Amino acid sequence: MMRRCVFLVLLVLMFSHAQADQIDTWLAEVGKLRDRVSEFIRTTRREIENRFFVNMPATASSAVLSLDTRTPTMQRLERNMLVRLRSERQALSAKRQPVVLKTGYQDYRCIIHAHCYLSHDSNGTIEEITAAAKQVGIDAIFMSDHIQEKDVVAEGPRGEKDGVLFVPGSENRNFLLYPADYKLPDLSLSNQGLIDAVRKTGGQVFVAHPEGLQDWGLQNLTGMEIYNIHVDFMDEAQLYAALQPKDSAGYAKLLSLLDAMNAYPHEAFAALYDYPKAFLERYDQMVAQKPFTAIAANDSHQNVGFVVKGAPDGKYRVEDALGELITELDSKQTPALKLLFGEPVPDKILLKRQLDPYPVSFHYVSTHVLAKERTERALRDALTVGRTYVAFDWIADTTGTAFVLKEGQKTYTLGDTAQWKNGMHLEAEVPLEATLRLMKDGQEVLKTQGRVLKYEVKEPGNYRLEAFVTLCDEPRAWILTGAIRVQR
Ligand SMILES: [Zn+2]
Repeated sequence: MMRRCVFLVLLVLMFSHAQADQIDTWLAEVGKLRDRVSEFIRTTRREIENRFFVNMPATASSAVLSLDTRTPTMQRLERNMLVRLRSERQALSAKRQPVVLKTGYQDYRCIIHAHCYLSHDSNGTIEEITAAAKQVGIDAIFMSDHIQEKDVVAEGPRGEKDGVLFVPGSENRNFLLYPADYKLPDLSLSNQGLIDAVRKTGGQVFVAHPEGLQDWGLQNLTGMEIYNIHVDFMDEAQLYAALQPKDSAGYAKLLSLLDAMNAYPHEAFAALYDYPKAFLERYDQMVAQKPFTAIAANDSHQNVGFVVKGAPDGKYRVEDALGELITELDSKQTPALKLLFGEPVPDKILLKRQLDPYPVSFHYVSTHVLAKERTERALRDALTVGRTYVAFDWIADTTGTAFVLKEGQKTYTLGDTAQWKNGMHLEAEVPLEATLRLMKDGQEVLKTQGRVLKYEVKEPGNYRLEAFVTLCDEPRAWILTGAIRVQR
């Protein structure tokens, strides 16, 4: 206001002393002065913003939790912990606020890496998968069936099914293959040959189970899984042992564990969670070379579970979720089993527990794809350039999350590559207050608590965002984005 008054006084003074022939010259001078004043205001505002909002944590760093805290899995599965976890996550979810910051795209929640009956290790039907996707709020599913005698891509579900978009694909060796001509390539090709054949159709190839890939010098890859449910489960030795009891005491323990899992399926499923440090390190290396897409692998099979059935001669038959015999237990040798399961009436199902039903594994984590519209073409294009982020939506829906790079009027977002210029800013906004962590080339450059992060880009690099929330006193990754690349 003060500055505007000075400006007006100057203007009046100039005109009161002006001769008629000088008016044009004065007006030109006034124009220049006005430009200088507005430039002054602009730079001052930017300086103030930089000083107070940018590159500074919103709260003292002591309020920011340590990301290394990790409660052991079996403790996470204790009933009182599951009860507490549910109430805490519901409280968080209720606090969600709409994100104002715009990326210029719609945010579609997708499942990448799922198996159905076309794979040897799943009995899941398309109807079950569609129903689960609708229940959870999934927009599209990229299937990844194991190679069988028939072409699982040509036979796979494709197009709209009851409001869910299906794209068929296949998991082969260490890759998820999504050929755009809907045909499996020649499987006798080398790894590089296979990748090139799929990319030539306009399709996408992602590294699946990255821990198993030997050759990271392969060209033409679209991206990689930065999180895989199956891989995360592999290190759960104690849980794995608990799921394979040796005696009736083991079964009694398992039954109470299964009951808790049954009552709190999402919370129990999330007990396997670990921060995917090694995969993110690999991702940072890859995206330093070229645009690289970050996806989550649900690796959903709906094939982990138990069925206890009665069998002849006072025996119990324990089968897995696919109907394969795990073991037979004799009620005459361990009478306590009758208390656990009831009388072993032949063929009577006495207990059935599915630990990884599609609605639970779809809800747990997803790949958010930023695209103009929900069509296969638009989603494939977004996946090709890397316009994605991985979200643990079981905590709270992350839809709308924005991470952008601003250069004047220009906005870049995930998957984009920008030329570095002075005055560039990164901005992020998420729907919940979280610990926001800005990573540059794998190193943390800013950690702040809040819904918004702002950062002045002082040098080129590959920037990605991580958001964590605290549940039961431990940090849980909520959002892990792909990168915005800033090059010299
Ligand atoms: Zn798989």
